[in-house]
Amino acid sequence: MPYEVKVEGRFAAAHALRGYGGSCERLHGHSFNVVVVAEAAGLDEIGMALDFRELDARLSGVLDVMDHQNLNELAAFSDRNATAENIASFVYEQLAPKLEPLGAKLRRVTVEESPKYAASFVPDV
Ligand SMILES: [Zn+2]
Repeated sequence: MPYEVKVEGRFAAAHALRGYGGSCERLHGHSFNVVVVAEAAGLDEIGMALDFRELDARLSGVLDVMDHQNLNELAAFSDRNATAENIASFVYEQLAPKLEPLGAKLRRVTVEESPKYAASFVPDV
């Protein structure tokens, strides 16, 4: 698929990494930045592969579930740590099906805890 479209979203949340054995095991917060990349096979009649706003709205719907939450208390993270990696795979699981009706495919979800630290989920093709 020759076209890629990127949209960013944000949410603020707390987490505590169980079993980490360091300061991140204590409850603390981040302003998470989430970057998603979707691909599409072609352009529509006005030259768009995927409307940024359509992708943005669907991403926001997924991130709203986590915004201003203690992630450890959400069912999605009851049996897996709310690490950047697991947040990325959770966003992928929730968002990918929402893009299928738009004719687009989610290719990458990157969760940035800070400007220095980020992890991505990239599904096998
Ligand atoms: Zn953290």
